[in-house]
Amino acid sequence: MTERIDVVLINPGDRKQVYQGLGTELAAIEPPFWVAVLAAYLRQEGFQVAIIDANAENIAPDETAQRAAALKPLLSCVVVYGSQPSASTQNMTIAGAICSALTQQKAGRVAISGLHPSALPERTLREEAVDFVIDGEGADSLKILLEELTLSLPDLSRVPGLWYHDATTIRSNPRANLIGDLDSYLPIAAWDLLPMHLYRAHNWHCFDDIEHRSPYAAIYTSLGCPFNCDFCCINAPFGKPGIRYRSPERVVDEINLLVEKYGVRNLKIVDELFVLKEEHYIKIVEGIIANKLDLNIWAYARVDTVKPENLARMKQAGINWLALGIESANPDVRDGSNKRMQSRDIKALVSMIQEAGIRIIGNFIFGLPDDTLETMEETLQLAMDLNCEFINFYCAMAYPGSKLYDIAMSEGWELPTEWHNFSQHGYGMFPLPTRALAAADVVKFRDDAFHRYFANPLYLDMVEKKFGVIVKDHLKEMSSSRLKRKLLGD
Ligand code: SF4
Repeated sequence: MTERIDVVLINPGDRKQVYQGLGTELAAIEPPFWVAVLAAYLRQEGFQVAIIDANAENIAPDETAQRAAALKPLLSCVVVYGSQPSASTQNMTIAGAICSALTQQKAGRVAISGLHPSALPERTLREEAVDFVIDGEGADSLKILLEELTLSLPDLSRVPGLWYHDATTIRSNPRANLIGDLDSYLPIAAWDLLPMHLYRAHNWHCFDDIEHRSPYAAIYTSLGCPFNCDFCCINAPFGKPGIRYRSPERVVDEINLLVEKYGVRNLKIVDELFVLKEEHYIKIVEGIIANKLDLNIWAYARVDTVKPENLARMKQAGINWLALGIESANPDVRDGSNKRMQSRDIKALVSMIQEAGIRIIGNFIFGLPDDTLETMEETLQLAMDLNCEFINFYCAMAYPGSKLYDIAMSEGWELPTEWHNFSQHGYGMFPLPTRALAAADVVKFRDDAFHRYFANPLYLDMVEKKFGVIVKDHLKEMSSSRLKRKLLGD
C-alpha cells in the first residue's frame, strides 16, 4: 500500500506540440530545477513530497493524473516553468490538460504555479480546472496552503499569493515577500525525487562528444534579472527587476553532489545572467577548479558583461559554451526593445571568447517592433559574420509577463489564440507583426534564415574543423527538413 503523500509537484510538457519533429532527438530534456527546489523546501518543512516529471517521462495527462491520484495527495500542484522564461506560456496548454485530468481523477486539491500563472493569475483561475493559482515564487504559499489543507476548516486568507474561488467570487491574497537569503531558506534541490536517467543535454552542448548527452543537470546560482528588456518575462514571478544570489560555496556543493551521486558532466547554469557579478561567478569558477571537477558547462552572458581577463579561468572550470543574447544587429531596433547594451564591438568580443576556447551560442531575434526586412537581413548577416558555433533564431513574441504583452494588449495586436502557439517551433506558432511586416513575413524570414545559416559552407567548414565530420553531418541532417507552419499555409 502506498504511503499518503502531502503534495505531488508536476512538471508539465508536451515535446511533440512544442518542438514538432525536433522533440524526439534534438531538443534537450532538462530537469525542472525549480520543482526540485520547491520539493526540497517542502520536505525540509516536514511534508511528504513526490514529483512527477511528465515532460521527461513523456506521459499523457491521464497517466500523469492516475499516478498522482494513486499517491492520494492532499494537493497536486502543476509547476509551469520550463527551460527558459518563454517556455512557461507555451506549456500552459498541456499544463491545463493535466489540471483537468487531476481534477477528474480526484488527485487531491489542484493548484497551478509558475511564471505564466504569476503573470496572469486571475485569467488562469478562470480558465483552468484548478482550485488554486499561486502567484509569486511559491515556496511560502505552498507551505502555508498545505498547513491549512490539513485543518478541518482551512483559512485560505492566510496563504500568500493565493487566488481561489469563494462561492461565486474570486479572491486573492497579496504575494509572499521575495525570499531574502536564498541559502538559508532553500535547501539543495531534491534531485533524488527526479528521474535523473532521463535527462539529456542539447545536441550543440555536446558537440565535443555528441554520443554522450546524458547524464545532464541544470542548476541555478541566482534568481531574477536586474534588467528589464521589453520582450522578456523573466521577472514575472518576482514582480520587479532584481537579482538574488546563492552563495558560491553552496552552488559548488550542489555541483559536487551532482557529479558524485549522478555522474553529471553536462551541466547548464540556468541563471538568465550568470556572467554578471564577478565576485559571484568567479568564486564558483574557482570552486569548480579547486575541486578538480570534469564538467562541460553552458551558461548565459550578455555582450556587455563578459570580461576578457576572466575567460581563461572560466574555460578551465569547464565553461565550454556561453550563450550571448545579441538579439539584433541594428542599434535602433535593439534600443526600441529596451535592451540597453553598452555599445561595444560584438565581433571583437566574440573572437576573444572563441580564442579562449569557449564556444558561443548566439541568440538573435527577428520581428522586434522596429524590424523591417532590411534590418532582419542585417541581423542575419551579423550572425553569419560572427559564425558562432551554434545559433538560436527566435521570432519576437509578446509573452505574458513582458512589457511587450501589455503593449500588445493595449494596442489590440493579434496574439496566438492557444498558449502552445507561443512556442517558437510549434506548427501554429504566431509571432508578433512589426510596424512594417506581418507575422507571416517574420516567421518566413526566420525559417529561411535558419536554413541559410546552417547551409553556409563557411559555417560547416568551421564545424568540421572544430568538432569533426560526425557533427557536421548531424547538423546537415538537423537542417534537412523545414518546420511546418500553419501561418505559411503548410
Ligand atoms: S537581460 Fe533582458 S532578456 Fe536577458 S534575462 Fe534580463 S530582462 Fe530578460
